Order: sequence, then C-alpha cells, then structure tokens
Amino acid sequence: MKAIIVGGGIMGLSTAWGLARDGHEVELFEQGPLPNPLASSMDEHRLIRHPYGDHVGYARLIDDAYATWDLLWQDLGQRLYAPTGTLALTGNGADWAERSAATLATIGKSMTELPVADLRHRFPQIEAKGVERAFWIDSGGVLFAQDIVTALAQHLARQPRVHLHPHTTVRAVDLEYGRIVTEAGAAHAADVVVVAAGAWVGRLLPDLGRRLIPSRQVVIYFDLPDEDRAAWARGPMIIEKTGDVGLYLVPPMEGRGFKVGDHEFSRSGDPTAKRAASEDDIRPLLNRCRSLLRGFDRWRTDRLKVCFYTVTEDERFVVEKQAACGWVMSPCSGHGFKFGALMGLELARTLASGRDSTAHARWAAGLEAIAPT
Ligand SMILES: Cc1cc2nc3c(=O)[nH]c(=O)nc-3n(C[C@H](O)[C@H](O)[C@H](O)COP(=O)(O)OP(=O)(O)OC[C@H]3O[C@@H](n4cnc5c(N)ncnc54)[C@H](O)[C@@H]3O)c2cc1C
Repeated sequence: MKAIIVGGGIMGLSTAWGLARDGHEVELFEQGPLPNPLASSMDEHRLIRHPYGDHVGYARLIDDAYATWDLLWQDLGQRLYAPTGTLALTGNGADWAERSAATLATIGKSMTELPVADLRHRFPQIEAKGVERAFWIDSGGVLFAQDIVTALAQHLARQPRVHLHPHTTVRAVDLEYGRIVTEAGAAHAADVVVVAAGAWVGRLLPDLGRRLIPSRQVVIYFDLPDEDRAAWARGPMIIEKTGDVGLYLVPPMEGRGFKVGDHEFSRSGDPTAKRAASEDDIRPLLNRCRSLLRGFDRWRTDRLKVCFYTVTEDERFVVEKQAACGWVMSPCSGHGFKFGALMGLELARTLASGRDSTAHARWAAGLEAIAPT
C-alpha cells in the first residue's frame, strides 16, 4: 500500500512510522522544515498522565499510549521520557481532580488523596494557597516532544520506502481519488491520503475547519534560581484548578526548561500570523503561580511561546475517514501529543487492514474501550 501524509507533526510522523514498520510506502509532505518549529508538536515537552476528568475513554487509553511509546523507544534506540508522577489540585468550586480520581477508580486505578496540610511537607516547593483537595498518582511524566519528533523524522529518513518532502506545502487534496497537488503544482497520488495538518487543517478542508477551531495558546518558560531548579528537577507535574485559570506545570526534567501553561482555550487566532505574546496574555497565569509556587518572586520569565492547536466542542479527537481515499487526523484539543504514537500506529493498522473506519473514529474519540479489530 502507498500512503500520502500531509503534515510532519507527531501525528503525521507516527502514522508514517506505523506504516513503514509494516513495509508500506509513504510520501510525507511538510510545509516547513521537518520538524517545523511552528508545529504544535514542537515544544520542549508534553505531559502524559492518567487523570482525565470525566473522560474515561482517554484515561483507559493511557496504558496503550505508554506501551506504544515503549515500542517507539525501541525503534529509536532511546527513551525520550521522564517519569514525574501526577499531582492534581482543586479548590474554589472546581472539582477536576476529584472527578479524575472517581473516573480512575472505575477502571481500577487509584489516586491517593493527600491531606492539604501535608502538601508543603511532601512538596516543599509548593505554597498550596487556595488548594482545597489534592490527589496523587505515581504514573505520569514528561515526553520530550521536540526531541521525539526530531528523532522520528530522522528515523523515517532512513527507511527505504519513506519519502519525506520538507518545505513542500500541499495546496489541494482530492480525498475521493487519493491525490494531492503541491504549491509548486506537482501532483502525487496514492491509495490513501491522510491529512494531519494540525491547526492549518481548515485551509485544506474548509468544512472540517468549522469543527476544528484553531486556538492560540501561550506558555511561559521560567528561569529559576539553582536551588529551586534542583528542587523541581524530580517533579512533580501539577495539574490544578483552584481559581479563574486552570494551570499545568511541567518540571525541568533531564535539563529541559520549566514551563507553565493554562487549560483555557482561546478558540481564536491564525496559525499563519506572526507569533508574539505579551504580559497581558499571561497575567492570570502569573497570579496563580505567585500563590502556588514557593519563592516565585525570585523567578524570571525566560520566554513566552505561542502555539496553536485545534479544539473541538467536546474535546474529543477527530480521526475520520473522508470520501473513498482520505482520512483526517486531528487528535488534539490540547491533549493529543501523549497519544501521538498510539494514534499513528493504530491508524496505520486500520489503513492497511481495512478495519472498520467508524469503529476507528469512535475509538479515537475515546468512545470505545479498545482499538477496533
Ligand atoms: C501549548 C500547548 C500545550 C500542550 N500540552 C499538551 C500536553 O501536555 N499533553 C498532550 O498530550 N498534548 C499537549 N498539547 C497538544 C499536542 O501538542 C498536539 O495535540 C499535537 O502536537 C498535535 O500534533 P499534530 O501532528 O496533529 O499537529 P502539528 O504538530 O501542528 O503538525 C501539523 C503539521 O502539518 C504541517 N502542515 C499544515 N498544513 C500543511 C500543508 N498544507 N502542507 C504541508 N504541511 C502542512 C504543519 O506545518 C505542521 O508541521 C499541547 C499543545 C500546545 C499548543
């Protein structure tokens, strides 16, 4: 089988990896360099964790996601992941941590509730102001995202039946007949075309652009005093909602940066526009950092990074067959990276085996317990 893949983020590359492992031919087109610094997948890290609010389907898929990352580490000859454990905090009427714990209990995974009074003892780097309940699970960690996509692109470049086309924008796709045309006017055809174009998907598939809304997100990298960095270098990852803005915190594992972001979707912005962020973008986040993180007044903002992803109404992934020879692959809403290897490998299996596309879409949407057979 021959597949054309549009987009060289984690989704396109993982699908190419899955297909190449089974000896299929792949042509992958990427509008920028490969990997592209503007891609959603290109940041120092992305989190993987079991707590998933009410989304039992995605919580269940985490073990499969870990198993597929392990397979990728074998193929790459390196593990680009560091475990941290997951600390989930809530307060001020928010209940994401409690709901996550309740959901995980239904699938046999338990979170431990930690007395808030003990938090500062166990995690001296936290102030815990505004925290009303705290839950812990040993699993969870940091995927070194940009190192993963870089290593994956290099790995694919060595595969004889994979042809990578960086700096080649796809201008149009014909999903009925499995054809694409590049900006330069070159036409290519295959048995299947997979559109994994991240936040740019609406330019190629305008109808889907109404379901997959680009969302501009800003994250903060901090410069920490050495002693604070050393304290955070073993974790934990924090997911918290205690006020106006829900925050996630990525500790500086294995020499990477220390990053904080929020869960609030902007549902606005244009991924092709110039990317710049200001203090206004991050004021609520900074306020929360100030009350949560010990010694925060001594920290310096190192840099702000603007990133785009697509958001769906229900935050479920869209991995769906389109016409006779096409698929759109948009596992995002800000939580897709952790499933990147799994989504790619399973889509490759479905493409090659012809298994049921509706079942596959439901599985990717977190609605089926297991991958379709
Ligand atoms: C701030 C932020 C924090 C996040 N945190 C997490 C997290 O902690 N955990 C988690 O699991 N997920 C997280 N995510 C989400 C995750 O990063 C994305 O779900 C994932 O990277 C999406 O990968 P993708 O391959 O679909 O898109 P992308 O990585 O954006 O790749 C799409 C590629 O397609 C290319 N392209 C587009 N159009 C064309 C065209 N016409 N021709 C050729 N090439 C084209 C683009 O240049 C791009 O390289 C986060 C995202 C952001 C932005």
